[in-house]
Amino acid sequence: TSAPERTDAYWMPFTANRQFKAEPRLLASAEGMYYRSVDGREILDGTAGLWCCNAGHARPQIVAAIQRQAATLDFAPSFQMGHPLPFVLAERLAALAPAPLQHVFYTNSGSESVDTALKIALAYHRVRGEGQRTRLIGREKGYHGVGFGGISVGGLANNRKFFGALLPGVDHLPHTLDLRRNAFSRGLPKHGAELADELERLVALHDASTIAAVIVEPIAGSAGVILPPEGYLQRLREICTKHGILLIFDEVITGFGRVGDCFAAQRFGVVPDMITTAKGLSNGAAPMGAVFVSQAIHEAFMNGPEGAIELFHGYTYSGHPLACAAALATLDVYAEENLFAAAHELGDYWEERIHALQGLPNVIDIRNYGLVGAVELAARPDAPGSRGYEVFKRAFHEQNLMVRCTGDTIALSPPLILNREHIDRIFDRLGATIRATA
Ligand code: PMP
Repeated sequence: TSAPERTDAYWMPFTANRQFKAEPRLLASAEGMYYRSVDGREILDGTAGLWCCNAGHARPQIVAAIQRQAATLDFAPSFQMGHPLPFVLAERLAALAPAPLQHVFYTNSGSESVDTALKIALAYHRVRGEGQRTRLIGREKGYHGVGFGGISVGGLANNRKFFGALLPGVDHLPHTLDLRRNAFSRGLPKHGAELADELERLVALHDASTIAAVIVEPIAGSAGVILPPEGYLQRLREICTKHGILLIFDEVITGFGRVGDCFAAQRFGVVPDMITTAKGLSNGAAPMGAVFVSQAIHEAFMNGPEGAIELFHGYTYSGHPLACAAALATLDVYAEENLFAAAHELGDYWEERIHALQGLPNVIDIRNYGLVGAVELAARPDAPGSRGYEVFKRAFHEQNLMVRCTGDTIALSPPLILNREHIDRIFDRLGATIRATA
């Protein structure tokens, strides 16, 4: 693949447009732990694409499954017709999810999963005769994609500022972000769980019987990899249960092994009422998402008080044959190679290596959990975000390493197939880049 002659007809996501046009970074191919750039360099992937390719890139089993499916049944309409794969996949997914989240709705992305979950929350209360429960609660700095619901419950100011009219009746809990300067603590922060009690304050303000759902990312990625203080999610769960509020975990980035179990819900021992997923579900090889819902939610729609409720919801591409084939093959690879356990087992070495960056110039905090990592750099007073962006760019051009920057935080989320040498290479290269960046 060679570089395109024009790059102005396509709107790059987010704010990447101008930066990209000044200096395009184009990927041509990928395999295992590596990308290859159009200028022929081998780039070590420290990000699994964008938290997607947990089994590494272009895995032959997944490629073959997609090819086979494309040649057999390329598409089947999802309204009134079906095909076997979504059912087979749903059973596999149910076995991976924490009980009682054994039912799924399919989507095509994380954003659609979030909007779907919010709609289900509203419909669930209505079916149960509690239609006044319409308020939604997110968190400041939360990221839940770019759908209309997602930006409304999300709390990153830049993602919202152009859209004056967001969903009404949305509140945001304060974020544990402000507790993050935990001075290089390893794993989950030990203090700060009481911040969950802010939910009680919102309940007192609005009356619990008006609140439909609370949505949080167990680990907030886009805000700069913010870990939940020990006990924080448990406390949210208790408060939601006490007041009949549904708790939604957005596990678009934490789902499918990232933290050493299939879901963060399992690793942290807290079961929400719904889990939103995408990315690692199909290893990034086909667009797909899924919302896991509890038995109670499923039953409310099947046998609600007004009789069976016809919940009108679904996408043309829900349960798309190619996406299902990709997801089934992905789950096979995860199981055959025991990748969720591998993420847990490698976590100690990952922790040791990432914390060895402490003391490098401008490094003000380091965070880790499972195969998630963050190195926070001091912001330049006149240009916040510019140091993070420079490290990201230099890592790519000078060290052949792909990292992600969210502001001045360098985020890492490698494919779960990596070994100790890859971990060494990631941190040697990142360390060299940080040293070279004033
Ligand atoms: N939720 C979270 C927590 C995410 O990190 C993302 C994407 N990074 C999304 C939702 C949106 O997913 P998508 O880009 O597939 O719509």
